[in-house]
Amino acid sequence: MLTSVAGFPRIGDRRELKFASEGYLSGKISKDELRKAAAAIRAQNWKFLKDSGISLIPSNDFSFYSRVADAAAALGFIPERFREDGLTGEDLQFALGRGFSGKNGPAEPLSMKKWFDTNLHYLVPEFDDTSVITSDCTKAAGEFNEARDLGINTFPTLIGPFTLLKLTEFTGKRGIEDVADETAEAYASILARLAGHFAEYVAFEEPSLVRDLTEEDRALFERLYNIVLKRKGSAKVILQTYFGDVRDAWSEICRLPFDAVGLDFVKGKKTLELVEKNGFPRDRLLIAGVVDGRNIWRTRYDDAAAILGKLSELGLSAAASASCSLVHVPVTVKSETKLSEDVLRWFSFAREKVQEIAEIAAVASGAEGSDKALSANRKLFATERVKRNDAVRQAVASLKEEDFRRVPAFAERERIQKARFGLPLLPTTTIGSFPQTAEVRALRKKLRTGEIGKAEYDESIKALIKRIIGFQEEIGLDVLVHGEYERNDMVEYFGERLDGFLFTENGWVLSYGTRCVKPPVIFGDVSRKSPITVDTSVYAQSLTKKPVKGMLTGPVTIYNWSFPRNDIPEKEVIYELALAVRGEVLDLEKAGISIIQIDEAALKEKLPLRKEDWDRDYLSFAIPSFRLVTSGVRPETQIHTHMCYSEFSDIIKSIDDMDADVISFEASRGKLEILDSLKENNFRTEAGPGVYDIHSPLVPSVEEIKTRIRLILEKLPAEKVWINPDCGLKTRHEEEAFPSLRNLVEAAKEIRDELKK
Ligand code: GLN
Ligand code: ZN
Repeated sequence: MLTSVAGFPRIGDRRELKFASEGYLSGKISKDELRKAAAAIRAQNWKFLKDSGISLIPSNDFSFYSRVADAAAALGFIPERFREDGLTGEDLQFALGRGFSGKNGPAEPLSMKKWFDTNLHYLVPEFDDTSVITSDCTKAAGEFNEARDLGINTFPTLIGPFTLLKLTEFTGKRGIEDVADETAEAYASILARLAGHFAEYVAFEEPSLVRDLTEEDRALFERLYNIVLKRKGSAKVILQTYFGDVRDAWSEICRLPFDAVGLDFVKGKKTLELVEKNGFPRDRLLIAGVVDGRNIWRTRYDDAAAILGKLSELGLSAAASASCSLVHVPVTVKSETKLSEDVLRWFSFAREKVQEIAEIAAVASGAEGSDKALSANRKLFATERVKRNDAVRQAVASLKEEDFRRVPAFAERERIQKARFGLPLLPTTTIGSFPQTAEVRALRKKLRTGEIGKAEYDESIKALIKRIIGFQEEIGLDVLVHGEYERNDMVEYFGERLDGFLFTENGWVLSYGTRCVKPPVIFGDVSRKSPITVDTSVYAQSLTKKPVKGMLTGPVTIYNWSFPRNDIPEKEVIYELALAVRGEVLDLEKAGISIIQIDEAALKEKLPLRKEDWDRDYLSFAIPSFRLVTSGVRPETQIHTHMCYSEFSDIIKSIDDMDADVISFEASRGKLEILDSLKENNFRTEAGPGVYDIHSPLVPSVEEIKTRIRLILEKLPAEKVWINPDCGLKTRHEEEAFPSLRNLVEAAKEIRDELKK
């Protein structure tokens, strides 16, 4: 049985690519050295895949910044501001991702979005009136040849035309329809040239096929590939899909003359059913993604082999693979030295997953010696992965409807809280964090290296809190925060203090550019050992008469930014997290904290890719989990939440159903369409649409903020509106954050006065 891998982590075992890129960008190493570092990582990956016996090995899965931006560059989907200074190759990629200062002044970087429902980001291509479609295969052919020179036969893999067009922002006169044929011709020419370089297989990745597709989308997909596939010559073409099933485009996929199709059998809940019910052409290779490419657990071989067995019963020729590129998992478990063998034997990172794919193929085809691998795997799965925490399981199992309902209802609470807090109209606040200054970072480092003790560290944090409370009082904010100086990360901070979490040493995965994150691992049942934030919040509140918000991270966000366990249902893991956060909420309330904010920054981003799955697979427990966190507080305790992106127009009702008292969200970029939907839907929750962009270093003027507030007041009743920035301030400098907040308070005051007149 053949085996295939769609993509492999490009960062290197020890994040070599990150360090090389940063070295190059700061002028410490030459372009040649950067290229050598990148080539060394690619060579190591290819050799590993070959030595592991993988039959179909990818090339061009590498990137210095974003594979979507690589495709955009190859196809000429580049806006004017980047075509001035003759930027090419890695320099163009860095410019697209970071912006640059060229002959015509500074150019803003492309905007960044999350790659489907993963935590990896891509750069959004822009196509303007000056964009010229090209068919540059320098990178793809270059990497293919580089592998061939090492004696390794690879298949170049590219982001396909359908996905590229769907992800591009068309800012000029032309749109998808106008450029579709020309784009397909360009892809066809790239394909023809790769075939000319003797590539046996070429893959086009089309994850956009797993979304809801309209009639037109399907027609577009078919039209594009009718053009592309005309020129395939001797090459065999792989259509690679991932992140779900391709239920909408099934007939088009089967009709088009692809030689191989990669399907996701892990996230694609309906994939097997589609194959069984609708049939799949027998003359094609079906690359079956049976190993989870997005989580870090070992695969149960019997399950994977059962799927492959069914495919062979159907008379199909299948290859074993992972559900998607392995770029979403860390490189290797071998880099972990601190975790116990009991834990590590359950881990499977990219290298281990490759070995699993090879073993599963052997098991499925009954290859000689494969019974040993199978019995070892069965032995592992016959043991217990985690020790149950019966109290937690019991608590989740016995949840009742009233645990999810806060009383009294919103309107009554709003009245009670308005009376309790006596805040002015348009109350001002911030999202929580203040700039993490060099001093804060140094402090954390000193604690880590043992240069200072915990007591000294805590005292220094207290001093920072005192200073920032003083600042907020001085400028006249209405609802204060403690600044979150003690947290380096809003998920890690809580994960480290909860039972059930593990932390890896080197479990880095790509986030954006060559930057990585190290997500916590939810290993077992989650519970709270003792109060986490109470002392800090109580201290901060003791310094002022104004309310200071208690700051927590919500269960869905903790879940979404971790590697979650997969041995119990998602809903149960989230409810365990919710119960832990609920305990903290109640302790904060008991300690006298009157306003508590529970951030659900990542709630929207994990919405299933298809509308019909939204409720059943996500919202039906994500939204109640928030209510579970908050339902136990008294009516006069005010619950806030925060969301980073305001693109939640299509789930407004669900957001209202969280039943928070106040929500803040990013709204200063973009067109404020969200306000229209809030208005249309009669949004009940009080709302703080961000009045300035914290991602930019610019200090907004009082006038600019007033304009923004006026826009908001056109749509929302003043009694419902809060005034705050878009998001936390931790990534800004104080020199930017402080004057911005002064202006924010001033703007709110002036608008209040205007309203009084
Ligand atoms: N309270 C957090 C902060 O201010 C929220 C961060 C976020 O939404 N990403 O930093
Ligand atoms: Zn945010």
